[in-house]
Amino acid sequence: MPLALDRVRYNSKKRFVFIASKFTICRYIFMPKMQPINRLKGFRDILPEDSHYWDFAISVIESVAQGAGLEKIEVPMLEKSDLFLRSVGEETDVVSKEMYVFDGSKNKGTSGKKDKEEQSQLALRPELTAGIVRAYIENGMQVWPKPVSLYTIGRCFRHENPQSGRFREFTQCSVEIFGESDPTIDANTIGVSWQMLTDMRITSAEININSMGCSVCRPRIKKILTDFFKKKESKLCDDCKKRLKKNPLRILDCKNEKCQALIAVAPLMIENICEDCKGHFMSVLEYLDEMGVPYNLAPNLVRGFDYYNRTVFEIITKNDTKRQNALGGGGRYDCLVEELGGEMTPAIGFGLGIDRIVEHLKTENIRVPKPKSKINVYVIHLGEESKKIALQIVKNLRKIGISVGMAVGKDTIKAQMKAADKVNALFSVIIGQREAVTNVALVRDMRDGIQETVELKELTERVFNMVEERKAEEEDYRKNKKIKK
Ligand code: AMP
Repeated sequence: MPLALDRVRYNSKKRFVFIASKFTICRYIFMPKMQPINRLKGFRDILPEDSHYWDFAISVIESVAQGAGLEKIEVPMLEKSDLFLRSVGEETDVVSKEMYVFDGSKNKGTSGKKDKEEQSQLALRPELTAGIVRAYIENGMQVWPKPVSLYTIGRCFRHENPQSGRFREFTQCSVEIFGESDPTIDANTIGVSWQMLTDMRITSAEININSMGCSVCRPRIKKILTDFFKKKESKLCDDCKKRLKKNPLRILDCKNEKCQALIAVAPLMIENICEDCKGHFMSVLEYLDEMGVPYNLAPNLVRGFDYYNRTVFEIITKNDTKRQNALGGGGRYDCLVEELGGEMTPAIGFGLGIDRIVEHLKTENIRVPKPKSKINVYVIHLGEESKKIALQIVKNLRKIGISVGMAVGKDTIKAQMKAADKVNALFSVIIGQREAVTNVALVRDMRDGIQETVELKELTERVFNMVEERKAEEEDYRKNKKIKK
């Protein structure tokens, strides 16, 4: 830690002499070292070395989403907790154990007054579908032409036990299609999720698919499962004993080994769904075959939320047989819009976990393009006077839309030239001491090292033209290369 300078005095030789007071020295010696503040458990920093993986995953997701005609929506991270209680379900782990809930009445804000709305319980969103459904109803999208096809990418929060691939803050992409119950929509939506992963060159993904039935056949399925698990109740984990009373379907999602052994021999949901649901499901599979999207039948697959009906699916990786680290999942939720206060609207969607996708890209050594620096011009200077001129040049070039870099702290021209090389600048503008007094600058083509002298008053226009010409040249080259391929 540098000594604080309490007093500065001029001595007779007109040189600065810095005197640190005794007080400062004492403070330096006896002051306790400040403890750093660390991030919360299960929360992460995404460092620059990883950011290109994120950019790549997100850009593929966005390009597939837009290619499929989906429109982007953003919804708040904080909602009334009732929204998740009514949609995801009070008995689900996500809501009952993992949701970050706040007492809104404790927030007074700057006015000191309590906002009436905020007196309710608030929750950080544990998933994205509920917020989008709320927005769909609240913004009158029910009258939009159908289907209403939306996607979003955003952070979610679950107070889970942090472990590999499981964080308390994570990023999901969510796709939601409202207004169609036709099985082609199911197949198409699953196809979109599949294309997102295959466009990222993830080859080890697998789709597991099932039908959870509808409001007509669900009570029967529940009864059959209750009867089965009741006989084996003593072998169930404590959580599943409770689930048996409230919602036996939840047992099918339990990861406990003893419960898993029972689930493996439990009656199959798919065998007990009604004829309508069977017909719908068979059509979904047929369309998936048509589209060449591979899948595995998973006759007892359920999802962690209560709102799903009919088609449900999850995307796992081949080496993750325990389904601990699924890349994504989704399904139909034909009753949710109505349950949240809207009109009866069939809907289907899915979520992809971007944190896990990024981990997968890294561990599978999937090549991800590293973004090239977008700096077109690098301004290099030597001496105090040149620095002022350099700053002016940077300002002028940025004003006309040219990306400019400048190394303020690096003194030698060589070090600055190296920095210009590192960012792949097209041109560098050099102002040495001689240039500063003669009001000129050297413009150096970083490709071949050829330099020209340009008067400062003409510099902005000259550099602009040079950059534009070079960009056009590179574009032509790219086009020709594509055509030859
Ligand atoms: P879900 O909303 O539970 O259907 O999850 C959809 C996807 O989000 C999962 O398949 C994961 O890829 C991802 N995901 C869910 N929970 C977490 C978590 N705690 N940490 C990281 N990713 C998660």
